[in-house]
Amino acid sequence: MGNGVAASEKTAKQPGRAAASREWNGRNRRVRPRLRALVAVALALAYVLSLAIISIEFTIASRDRGPTVPFSLMLVAGGLGLVLLIGYIAIRKRFIHPLETMVGRLRTASRDTVAPDWNLDEGATGEIGAIASFINHHSLVVRDAQAALTSEIEERKLAEVRLRSSRELLRSIMETAPDAIVCIDETGAIIIWNAAAERVFGFREKDVLGEDLNLVLQNGDDILRTGAVRGFLDRDLPALAEDPTDVVATRKDGTSFNAEIAFAGWESEDGRCISAFVRDVTEKRQSEEHIRFLAHHDSLTELPNRTLFNDRLAQSLALARRDNSKVGLMLLDLDNFKQTNDTLGHASGDRLLRVIANRLQAQKRETDTVARLGGDEFALILPQFRSAADTETLATRLIDIVGEPVEIDGHEVQVGTSIGVALFPDDGDDIDQMITHADMAMYQAKEDGRNTYRLYAEQMDAEVKDRKQLLADMREALAQNGFQLAFQPQVQLSDNKVVGSEALLRWDHAARGPVSPGRFIPIAEQGGLIVDLGEWVVNAACTQLQTFDTLGLPPMRVAVNISSVQFRRGNLVQATRDILERTGASPERLEFEITESVVMSDVERAIDIMRELDELGIRISMDDFGTGYSSLSYLRQFPIQKLKIDRSFVQDIETEEDSMEIVNAIIGLSRSLNLTVVAEGVETDGQLSRLTDAGCELVQGYIFGKPMMADDFETWMGDWTGGKPR
Ligand code: C2E
Ligand code: MG
Ligand code: MG
Repeated sequence: MGNGVAASEKTAKQPGRAAASREWNGRNRRVRPRLRALVAVALALAYVLSLAIISIEFTIASRDRGPTVPFSLMLVAGGLGLVLLIGYIAIRKRFIHPLETMVGRLRTASRDTVAPDWNLDEGATGEIGAIASFINHHSLVVRDAQAALTSEIEERKLAEVRLRSSRELLRSIMETAPDAIVCIDETGAIIIWNAAAERVFGFREKDVLGEDLNLVLQNGDDILRTGAVRGFLDRDLPALAEDPTDVVATRKDGTSFNAEIAFAGWESEDGRCISAFVRDVTEKRQSEEHIRFLAHHDSLTELPNRTLFNDRLAQSLALARRDNSKVGLMLLDLDNFKQTNDTLGHASGDRLLRVIANRLQAQKRETDTVARLGGDEFALILPQFRSAADTETLATRLIDIVGEPVEIDGHEVQVGTSIGVALFPDDGDDIDQMITHADMAMYQAKEDGRNTYRLYAEQMDAEVKDRKQLLADMREALAQNGFQLAFQPQVQLSDNKVVGSEALLRWDHAARGPVSPGRFIPIAEQGGLIVDLGEWVVNAACTQLQTFDTLGLPPMRVAVNISSVQFRRGNLVQATRDILERTGASPERLEFEITESVVMSDVERAIDIMRELDELGIRISMDDFGTGYSSLSYLRQFPIQKLKIDRSFVQDIETEEDSMEIVNAIIGLSRSLNLTVVAEGVETDGQLSRLTDAGCELVQGYIFGKPMMADDFETWMGDWTGGKPR
């Protein structure tokens, strides 16, 4: 068969040669009979002619020799011979030659395995012609049939190859698929079970073939009896391709797991079948659950986060609106948490937060929500609260509980908390208002000394508005150069010389009159204005130093107060360097007053900044000393030159021995650390003499001079005689 294809291909590939050979055959067929006929006629003529000559010679001779074979007999014999010859030629032409040709072609053809266009003698007529054309016709039919057969065989071969490779593909997919592939027939019996199915379910293929799908799916029956799967098996649906659904699957050992299953339907010889693609999604579901949890919970304490808190608050308010009940909202902010965090390290800070979170959790009723809103801020949603009095009881309890000491890494740590309370619907009727008002109450608690609670009151709203207004006014005043500095002298007790002054910020508000720094500085700190304002103060103090020099005042230092926010957030060192360059003031004449809390909130960073300032030549004094939380061991590392005894101790030294003892202790500490000590807020002669006796070196207070505007200070200085002012 292959030869036949090859031969036909060969012919097809050489059309020129085939045509030439056909042409040559035709010509051959036409030329040879004509030549043979001519030869036959020539022979016949020669034969007749020779017969005639012989007859004539015989006739002449017989006239001489007597009677012989009659001439007419010879003529008949000659004629007969001629007829035989012509007959032979005719028979040859009509029968023998076409038959020879046919046989020759058939012989050739029989060697050819391809059914050719035999094309038997086209010139043949009569019966042989009919036979030839019959054979010709059928040779063509056979040839066409053979060609069709050949191409069909080719196609089949191709189909077989394709089938084989798609079987291979299917097998490799089934074996390598990460998902279990389980196929069932119309009755629900398992007919295919891949390698992943063995892994996922623990059953070997031989154990499950022919078994019911129920063996591995807990609700396998329901799946087969209902929905699109059933529809497909019942032939109600033409096709099936189902999106994955969640099912509970069972392993060989009886344990169950969450799985995702998708179905596809297909037809087999025996009927409809279903392929089930089963994926173990236990881990996926767990991580989804974890992600969902993280989206709504704080990872450190596992308490609900702000998102969930908002949600729960909205829900509680909606329920309370329906039931006409009250909801309490408490916002808690830990006091001085940052200090603890910085001193003990962040890991300890985290542990502390977890302990506080657990303590708060332990206090909540089932319907309450304790949330962590961020940093050291917590919130409690208290549905079904009867009255403000109830919230007060709870707030007091929470302050006590949070305040209980916590043992962390061998340290006993204690934190306080400031709580703001707002009640729905009395203090707000939506979540924003409730949060804002509880927040205001919490700030009020902070301002009122911390570690306490405040219930929201309407005037807090007014206070917040007022603070906002003041902040806006301060911004404008700063832009319009509306601030001023007052200078308060510092006197050296050994010789009554004015060795320095403290520059204190003054703001004369256009509408309100003078506003005290105690009021506006915290607002500037919270409103983000303190860095600019502080820079303005340093610049004004340096400029004034130059003016004092120009006016011929005795050389003295000017001390400037640096806010904690300015110290931490601002680029204090660089800004100061720029100002010194710009104003030409000498750094040795500039002093920065910082408080203990500024330093203790981030000791390492504070030491770095202080060192840089020290390198610049600026002196540093510790303001309000004794009121904050100083670690004496750190104090030794600080590059400071002065301690300022707070006014709160000085004002009581005449009446309270404790205060005098504290002042003595601070003076003793200053000596041992080689620091200068300044007492501030000295008003009376009694205070002055006690301080003098205790060995205090410098004094600042109304007894010598109140803070004065620069002009007044110049005059005062001119009047200063080295004792009390004239
Ligand atoms: P401070 O730095 O402790 O300033 C001393 C305060 O005590 C000043 O109050 C001063 O007027 C007052 N004082 C001084 N001697 C006496 C006295 O004998 N008796 C009484 N009763 N008071 C006396 P002032 O000016 O109201 O400043 C209050 C606080 O505002 C300052 O306390 C300081 O912390 C802050 N402050 C003032 N100016 C600035 C500033 O430019 N920047 C920053 N960050 N804070 C400033
Ligand atoms: Mg000060
Ligand atoms: Mg002070």
